[in-house]
Amino acid sequence: MTDKVNFGDELVSPEEKTRRVGAVFSSVARRYDLMNDLMSGGMHRLWKDRFVARVKPRAGEQILDMAGGTGDVAFRMVKRGAQVTVADINADMLKVGKARAEKRGLPGLSWKVANAETLSFADSSFDAYTIVFGIRNVTDIPAALGEALRVLKRGGRFYCMEFSSSDWPGFSTLYEAFASNLIPRIGKVVADDEESYRYLVESIRRFPRPPAFRAMVADAGFVRAAAEPMLGGLVTIHSGWKI
Ligand code: SAM
Repeated sequence: MTDKVNFGDELVSPEEKTRRVGAVFSSVARRYDLMNDLMSGGMHRLWKDRFVARVKPRAGEQILDMAGGTGDVAFRMVKRGAQVTVADINADMLKVGKARAEKRGLPGLSWKVANAETLSFADSSFDAYTIVFGIRNVTDIPAALGEALRVLKRGGRFYCMEFSSSDWPGFSTLYEAFASNLIPRIGKVVADDEESYRYLVESIRRFPRPPAFRAMVADAGFVRAAAEPMLGGLVTIHSGWKI
């Protein structure tokens, strides 16, 4: 790949993007969970509860939680009896997650450093694939969707939750002002890292709108690709099935 891609609002090579995304999450790993609460006013907990309710993990199912970071989504799924592999490109995020899981005594979890674009799991390994607030950071999104399809069993479910930039008049202006000004400042005070949080805001703004991403999920080969706005439309749950 030689074409330039966006790292936030900057154009960089694909390799540079993957490297810099890695640096962002290594830098934010220790404060990641606290920052999530501050940036969303605790809403991310509710979004993740709703997300897992949509995934409907069942006892004994094998689920791949891709870009699973510090394990927030995986913890909710193992509590329902699923076996969850938390995979992430960033070992620092997984390290924080493993420590949290040990503290809570949660069984049913395994952890793997992996790039969503090139997975080493065998074909047809999982009943469900989840990716929450992760795919917008991936350099080659169609490659990651192709890998999701490959590692799912027939009848397997794909679920992704992402921010959806809002078009609502008034709301979008208000949200833009909050996101662009306040989030990097909170990042500076809490995590001493303004730049990483500026990237996170820019990456949300640049992620395709829900109809465009739904089309990408369908193009990857998933059937019944759907985009469901959640709780005011700030986030969207995307889903699809492998037949
Ligand atoms: N899913 C978790 C959650 O909702 O709390 C973590 C989300 S965090 C915003 C995004 C995660 O995506 C980071 O842990 C980052 O390391 C991971 N990530 C970014 N690019 C990736 C890639 N190409 N493959 C796998 N993980 C990636």
